[in-house]
Amino acid sequence: MQQAVAVDDARRLDEADPLSAFRSRFLAVPEVVAYLDGNSLGRPLDRTPEGLAGLARDRWGGRLIRGWDEGWMEEPQRLGDDLGRIVLGAGPGQTIVGDSTSVLLYKAVRAAVALRPDRDEVVLAGGDFPTDRFVLQGVADELGLRLVPLEAPHDGGVEADQVAAAVGPRTAAVVLSHVAYRSAHITDVSAVTAAAHAAGAVTVWDLSHSAGAVPLRLDEWEVDLAVGCSYKYLNGGPGAPAFVYARASLLPSLQQPIQGWMGAAEPFAMGERYVADPGIRRFLSGTPSILAMQPLADMLSLLDEVGIDAVRAKSERLTAYAVDRYDAELAPLGARFASPRDPQRRGSHVTFDHPAFEAMLPRLHARGVVPDFRRPDGLRIGLSPLSTSFEELELGLQAVREELVQAG
Ligand SMILES: *Cc1c(COP(=O)(O)O)cnc(C)c1O
Repeated sequence: MQQAVAVDDARRLDEADPLSAFRSRFLAVPEVVAYLDGNSLGRPLDRTPEGLAGLARDRWGGRLIRGWDEGWMEEPQRLGDDLGRIVLGAGPGQTIVGDSTSVLLYKAVRAAVALRPDRDEVVLAGGDFPTDRFVLQGVADELGLRLVPLEAPHDGGVEADQVAAAVGPRTAAVVLSHVAYRSAHITDVSAVTAAAHAAGAVTVWDLSHSAGAVPLRLDEWEVDLAVGCSYKYLNGGPGAPAFVYARASLLPSLQQPIQGWMGAAEPFAMGERYVADPGIRRFLSGTPSILAMQPLADMLSLLDEVGIDAVRAKSERLTAYAVDRYDAELAPLGARFASPRDPQRRGSHVTFDHPAFEAMLPRLHARGVVPDFRRPDGLRIGLSPLSTSFEELELGLQAVREELVQAG
């Protein structure tokens, strides 16, 4: 009975939620009871299937190669500018949509360390997402740099004072995530960037777990370079092209290592030597995936309509709800809380640890409840503010509780 009351309460929160109507913009899948993994792969918009079909039929099929002269050439930068305005707090000409996050991170880090050729250290988070650590290991091996990993508590992340203590005259770059992929801890970008700059180092931020959920002010925070993912809170679809931001004042001196014709000043001049585009296009290499950019463009229109501050407000309410229900229902069953308790320092997911979670996952999936799992024992509850309802969250957490009782 208690459970039914909680579902009714959650429904009332949905009724009072000013963003609840936007849920209908996403493709409905009756079999899914609770989708709590929108921070790994966002849901498609309901217009996405027809949008993709139309692109293939009319613009590709109908216009063929002429499409490149009819907008495709400018599409990566047009989307980048929209992303900058709607999501990143970045003026035009500094953001472009291109390769995967991993590849763009490589390009951005190489461009950052090339600005400081007399320095040989890179500061990073020891617990960052694997691709970030692996890319940095590769760059360090390639260029003979030393990596300086910062350790953070299990339920937290890197703090500005740690960075201030770690940077010095040998630091070429500081490479960190804004929102930690496991704990959801928010690192203070402005304070870290200031500390790095005071030591003469360049900053590179990974915004994968914040873009589309947590407001960003890249220009105001004086960020040098940033990359991020577009298939999480930006709902671009599996493998959707990522983005890179580079501060306008740095652009003329930034050199990225994969010099391809699409990043050249005059791609069709078929010239002898590579001359980089003067602007953000220099971060392109080969032909960008126009097809894969379509869902992202649609999601940006939706975010523009709603406004990122309203998205953040709902995100805070959703994570606070999850924390309350954890305290009441899951903590007594032995789960441990692995995210910041302060909503100001928390992104749009919460993680609970319990040794039984891994074995429970197939049973949850069979019930139509889809959370995320992070080794060794973390259940990550991803709350995508425009597509997640309070009722869905409540039903998902009830399923987790029931399975935990069974497992106990
Ligand atoms: C999701 C994520 C990525 C994704 O990288 P891909 O190249 O798209 O596979 C990178 N970094 C972080 C921190 C992420 O959370």
